[in-house]
Amino acid sequence: MSDAILEVKNLKKYFNTPGGVLHAVDDVSFTLEKGRILGVVGESGCGKSTMGRAILRLHEPTSGEVNFEGRDITKISAEEMRKLRSDMQIIFQDPFASLNPRKSVSELIGEPLRLHKIYKSKAEREQHVLELMEVVGLAERLANSYPHELDGGRRQRIGIARALALNPKFIVCDEPVSALDVSIQAQILNLLKKLKRERGLTYMFITHDLSVVNYFSDEIMVMYLGRMVEYAPSEELFKNPVHPYTRALLSAIPVPRLRSKRERILLKGEITSPINPKPGCRFAPRCAYAKECCFKDSPELRDLGGGHKVACHFSQEFFKG
Ligand code: SF4
Repeated sequence: MSDAILEVKNLKKYFNTPGGVLHAVDDVSFTLEKGRILGVVGESGCGKSTMGRAILRLHEPTSGEVNFEGRDITKISAEEMRKLRSDMQIIFQDPFASLNPRKSVSELIGEPLRLHKIYKSKAEREQHVLELMEVVGLAERLANSYPHELDGGRRQRIGIARALALNPKFIVCDEPVSALDVSIQAQILNLLKKLKRERGLTYMFITHDLSVVNYFSDEIMVMYLGRMVEYAPSEELFKNPVHPYTRALLSAIPVPRLRSKRERILLKGEITSPINPKPGCRFAPRCAYAKECCFKDSPELRDLGGGHKVACHFSQEFFKG
């Protein structure tokens, strides 16, 4: 029996712009099992953060379904969605920008508890805040400090504590370490892994850095200009990347073990506009393998077996499974 916590079907998020309709997320479908980590990777502007926000309805989806624990949340009222917020949370990329600079650490972490009226008394709430601070590794003496007095790692720990405050089941981690120093990144990733283990959390982990998702994810989705181009269990994707774009991303990982086996693939050619996109593969202008059909027909996502799906006309030829 499937233990899916999230089933996304044909999700689209379009924006009207002066130049036309921007297809930020275009027909993405996937299933995420409870307790798993889905890594979502792609270059800046590929739609990965917009997809995370559309799933949480921080952006209203243009069309499609987002089934959370079997219920399509795109159809529920704002009030029902507000209640569901405690189950579905987000950790933002830039903790400094997402935190009110005029509020203390204690106030910031206590805010979701206050808004959702979890405790009747202030004392009970403050006690829970101190417990959350301990869980995320923030010293109690920092309770009255302000964000500008803390380093990036501690600020991100506040963001994580806020996300945990309402005891969620699912968290979208939107580039949670990319604004941090490399030395602090590992600490935050380890903390997120520990919390997932202890609390049975499910993550969607969005990043532009494929080396981070390899360490962190059970499955990986690769996005290119609003489309899912490859989806596979993490180990399979690293062992057997099929889509030419995934191969290029992988070749850029600065790991000697990988570099010795793979030459760096430099992408040339122009990036297609996601505004009123033409039919055809959106990667075609940058793809070394593009043929005539690639500029005419959009490739369907094909299942190559073992949960490995690829959107490329020549996926069977590139597949070495
Ligand atoms: Fe390249 Fe064609 Fe495959 Fe697109 S469909 S990735 S252009 S070979």
